[in-house]
Amino acid sequence: MTERTTAAERDIAHVLHPFTNLVQHKEKGPLVIDRGEGIYVYGEDGRQYIEGVAGLWCTALGFNEEELVQAATDQMRKLPYYHFFHSKASMPGIDLAEKLKGIAPVPISKVFFVNSGSEANDTVVKLVWYYNNARGRPQKKKFISRVNAYHGITLASTSLTGIAKVHAEFDLPLPQMMHTDFPYHYRNAKDGESEEAYASRLADNLEQMILREGPETVAAFIAEPVMGAGGAVIPPATYYDKIQAVLRRHDVLFIADEVICGFGRTGNMWGCQTFSLKPDIITCAKALSSAYQPIAAVLISDEIYQGVEEGSRKVGVFAHGFTYSGHPVAAAVALRTLEIYEERRLIDHVQAVSPRFLKRLAGLGEHPLVGNTRGVGLIGGIELVADKATKKAFDPAQMVGPYISERCVEHGVILRNIENNMAFCPPLIITEPQIDDLFDRFEQALDDTHKWVKRG
Ligand code: PMP
Repeated sequence: MTERTTAAERDIAHVLHPFTNLVQHKEKGPLVIDRGEGIYVYGEDGRQYIEGVAGLWCTALGFNEEELVQAATDQMRKLPYYHFFHSKASMPGIDLAEKLKGIAPVPISKVFFVNSGSEANDTVVKLVWYYNNARGRPQKKKFISRVNAYHGITLASTSLTGIAKVHAEFDLPLPQMMHTDFPYHYRNAKDGESEEAYASRLADNLEQMILREGPETVAAFIAEPVMGAGGAVIPPATYYDKIQAVLRRHDVLFIADEVICGFGRTGNMWGCQTFSLKPDIITCAKALSSAYQPIAAVLISDEIYQGVEEGSRKVGVFAHGFTYSGHPVAAAVALRTLEIYEERRLIDHVQAVSPRFLKRLAGLGEHPLVGNTRGVGLIGGIELVADKATKKAFDPAQMVGPYISERCVEHGVILRNIENNMAFCPPLIITEPQIDDLFDRFEQALDDTHKWVKRG
């Protein structure tokens, strides 16, 4: 028995896989990744793959950043663990909170640390509920998210997520969570409707939803500046200006989920800067530590902090937090990550290589299978269609998305299909020749898929 079979068999025998078709997995087994270097990962058989989605949209510095290994090792030797409960603290978390406030896109009062994007968004829900109770508006509790948004997978954050399969059979979403329009112009605009007119219509729909529910019951609206797991969807022109005006009119908080967009992905430090967002609360994760350690953060305005302090005065203690909130090793790695972004001028790098990335992405639009392409910074998406002229979508049962994902692996690039869309989100350190290599490999997979589709 080869080692490969052994690893696959052991995986099938022992591991329950997240976000995996469990029935197919029993047949096909896993792709076992053994090591990484730069933008590449290597299978246990030594095969090289470009990680075109930076793992799960997260390894900004690629897969072998020695400085982060060093930061983790140094901190483990000095103080491998401490917590922030009961007024205790440790230095890396204090330093990191200060650093995040310093680079935040809007004035921030306090930073709350958690371990994942899901925990960050769950924490937001609790903070907003706590805040509105303290402010004497216990009925103002509803959250509005968007269809196809992804905000995580814990109970409240799953409910914010707007993807049907994360709710199905899980008895979710929670009753306080609602979903407004998916802002995807290509699919959802009316014939001849401009991006601006479409954005006005969506803002109007949001306002109608708030009025229907009663503004006194609607606490917050949450959005990813660019939707990631919903298919790398860029908002239509003027969308956020119009949405934010509606929120202000009805005293609804704005939560920016920067879990994917934060730290350079859209060509600025924050997606909020790329799209002129003025949120009350920001959540971030992933590239915060280049994913070398699990850490995420919730950044809150002074108005929110004052309300939360008020609540704490009432109850005696702000009774929320995790054993690993502000974990010193994770915080030290995150701090070093943010320093590296500055030292190596990573955002300048993203701005320098992004035109190449966007040009190659747009070039895919020439292909007979590609109906739409869209991107900003180093994130992009395309939609594969059965008929370009009519925009006819592939029936999901045709499994075109999974098919092309598999062809990608064959051609040495790992990319993510989201139904009939493909998402591109490479490590931010990617160079122009590597961008070409990524798209060259993808185009081979696209051609294979086209032949397969034509064969029926
Ligand atoms: N928000 C967004 C925008 C995300 O993309 C994700 C994860 N893909 C999350 C939240 C949840 O993060 P995690 O998987 O770390 O819980």
